[in-house]
Amino acid sequence: MEVPDHYTNSCPAGCPGLIRAEYAARRITPRPFPGIFRYADWLPVEGTLPIQAGPVTYRSTGLAREAGLANLWICFNGYWPEKGALIRTCSFKELEAWPTMLRLQEKGEGIMQVSSAGNTGRAFAEVSAQCGYPLVLAVPVRGIDRIWTTRPAEQVFLIAVEGDYTDAITVGDALCSLPGLVPEGGAKNPARRDGMGTVMLDGTLACGRLPDWYVQAVGSGTGGIAAWEMAERLRRDGRWGAALPRLLLSQNLPFTPMADAWQDGRRTLLPGDFVDATSRIADVWADVLTNRHPPYDLPGGLRDALLATNGMMDPVSNAEAHAAGRLFAEVEGCDLDPAAAVATASLLRSAENGTFGKNDIVLLNITGGGYERVKKDFTLHRVRPACTVPAGAGRAEAERLLTGWMKDYA
Ligand SMILES: *Cc1c(COP(=O)(O)O)cnc(C)c1O
Repeated sequence: MEVPDHYTNSCPAGCPGLIRAEYAARRITPRPFPGIFRYADWLPVEGTLPIQAGPVTYRSTGLAREAGLANLWICFNGYWPEKGALIRTCSFKELEAWPTMLRLQEKGEGIMQVSSAGNTGRAFAEVSAQCGYPLVLAVPVRGIDRIWTTRPAEQVFLIAVEGDYTDAITVGDALCSLPGLVPEGGAKNPARRDGMGTVMLDGTLACGRLPDWYVQAVGSGTGGIAAWEMAERLRRDGRWGAALPRLLLSQNLPFTPMADAWQDGRRTLLPGDFVDATSRIADVWADVLTNRHPPYDLPGGLRDALLATNGMMDPVSNAEAHAAGRLFAEVEGCDLDPAAAVATASLLRSAENGTFGKNDIVLLNITGGGYERVKKDFTLHRVRPACTVPAGAGRAEAERLLTGWMKDYA
């Protein structure tokens, strides 16, 4: 079934699967832009924005030598000017935020609402700061320090939620009943997935063909789904090879619900995967990987992506991730987001245990890094909360303030 795009993120007929964007261009033609809009042909937007943030792929020597891999390619998503990597909020969440914000401007109406534990909120706040699009953010109190931008974010209404990420989502969802607020949509939003999918695109164009492996740390799994969907498009393009890359996706112990379900050969996540979730989540170093409602078992979701690509999932300990992050900084020369260190640990372990073939092309998605450098090159502006709300009840004051704020944009 085909539906027109009015910032549509779910099937109007009520089918449960993920809806996908269909593009007029069967073959990808990169445009002469530095950032992500280089790949506008396969993003669900009409126009482009003049930005420099985008994925950057290079062939590794240092980490490749350590891993004993002949064909290791790194897609770096963060801030590393020497490599041309100019994502100022330092994670691949900006690859989602740019096309998502532009798509709402073009295809929908209303003000974007995003709930986030940190990286996503910072990415969307940066887009708002650079373009002036209004944004309502709900973030757990513990994540507020992570919401900074490289220009003052004057159009952001930030709500601090007393509780964890799930509580912030609950508050954000409830606020979206206010007329004029539009939920960004998460994994269901094709702009988010195809924005992340530009990693596969950039990696394939850099190595000249679809890689044999795609390595990433996942929390929701959206990046894995996106990589699979984009690889399918590249296969249909016809010039990049016929075999889909195998997904090697990692989670951080001791909270690894999708890795557990996949390794048990289960179709669904079970309550047992979430036993003691709060305390296990507290023990995870890369806490951006601790999503409690990942799109694992819905049609077109992560399980389907793993089945279609003969994929694997890998649980990684904090100690392994710390060691891998240190090694990366030493041999490649940049600090990593903890989640990227988790993926690097998986890569090293899989190289050692013979998972990869000798000449396989391996694409490692470094989903975040460069925090040390961005602090030197920019003044970082903290976004201050407009209000703090308790988890659960007691939103009346926030709603009053927000309604007043929204009048300026009506
Ligand atoms: C969100 C995030 C991930 C996980 O991404 P998903 O594909 O949505 O699971 C990995 N690394 C970093 C740095 C992130 O911010």
